[in-house]
Amino acid sequence: MIKINKSFFLIDKLEQDNSLTLSEYEYLISNQSEETSEYLFEKSRALREKYYKKDVYIRGLIEFSNYCKNDCLYCGIRRSNKNAERYRLTADEILECCSDGYQLGFRTFVLQSGEDPYYTDDMLVSIISSIKNSFPDCALTLSIGEKTYEQYKAYFDAGADRYLLRHETANKEHYDKLHPDNLSHDNRLQCLYNLKEIGYQVGTGFMVGSPYQTAKNLAQDMLFLKELQPHMIGIGPFISHKDTPFSQEQSGTMEQTLFMIGLIRLTLPQALIPATTALGTIHPRGREKGILAGANVVMPNLSPTSVRKKYMLYDNKICTGDESAQCRLCLQRRMESIGYRIVVNKGDHASLVK
Ligand code: SAH
Repeated sequence: MIKINKSFFLIDKLEQDNSLTLSEYEYLISNQSEETSEYLFEKSRALREKYYKKDVYIRGLIEFSNYCKNDCLYCGIRRSNKNAERYRLTADEILECCSDGYQLGFRTFVLQSGEDPYYTDDMLVSIISSIKNSFPDCALTLSIGEKTYEQYKAYFDAGADRYLLRHETANKEHYDKLHPDNLSHDNRLQCLYNLKEIGYQVGTGFMVGSPYQTAKNLAQDMLFLKELQPHMIGIGPFISHKDTPFSQEQSGTMEQTLFMIGLIRLTLPQALIPATTALGTIHPRGREKGILAGANVVMPNLSPTSVRKKYMLYDNKICTGDESAQCRLCLQRRMESIGYRIVVNKGDHASLVK
């Protein structure tokens, strides 16, 4: 009882100040329970509705290549996974996905891929400008990994509006346990600061329940978010993939992921927070529960059905057999079932809406 009272007190404090100390976040995360979650979600939902009402923003995700030069230990499309069947979409195929998406009411496209050097900067710039010319009323988001300042600048100048790059974990030692030696935590964070400086709307995030993660690490993630002030924060449970070094590791839980969504909403009240596909993968109603915990974005897949099964970051990923139109309709029904509605607009951060 005393424990619950302390958690309630800290949740009230977070609601009031939009911040806690490291040890306070850690306490809340370590003592998460059904009762504290319910208490948190009432507040996070109210705050979400204050800024975004019952609106749910959609982003059309186009996974245009699963080739990757990196070897992240958790990821199913890591370079060393010889069982991954690789594919690349052409510029025309990518534009076709956008065009299908536009008709389905998408006004934001997210181009995501492994780190695939096949796409040169010239190619990317040309793809970006074609999309922006064809769909001038749409926002374009990139999620193609770590690049130099100059590269990010070139994509921005070509018309890219937003960039998603999860920091994965705010703790350097933890980062090193999830990544090979040639990837550095410092560089990952530097990329995020560069993206901000260039003027992108930035999205970051982390996996919940990744191997070796502690409650303190998650508390550090919260402090990092508070410092970076990203527009969007995408989190999802870690889910093991059979062909990775982490195949035998436990996956993250829905409960902890939802709890982190609630904490993020109270910490960054206006943030764009997706109810992610990974959350929908560990529980059949994970995305709905994510919205009810304070999330306000969903990112259905617009990739051609023929390649969907190949972009397997983790086992059992959902929606890999569906057409884009089916996914769009299915999500609409899911959101309506909990009293929310998908809206047709770019889905900007509340601070950017005039
Ligand atoms: N190459 C791009 C896109 C990465 S894939 C980049 O570097 O940003 C997008 C996200 O999927 C990753 O940032 C990671 O957080 C998540 N992801 C990868 N493998 C996962 C797994 N096994 N379980 C859950 N999420 C995973």
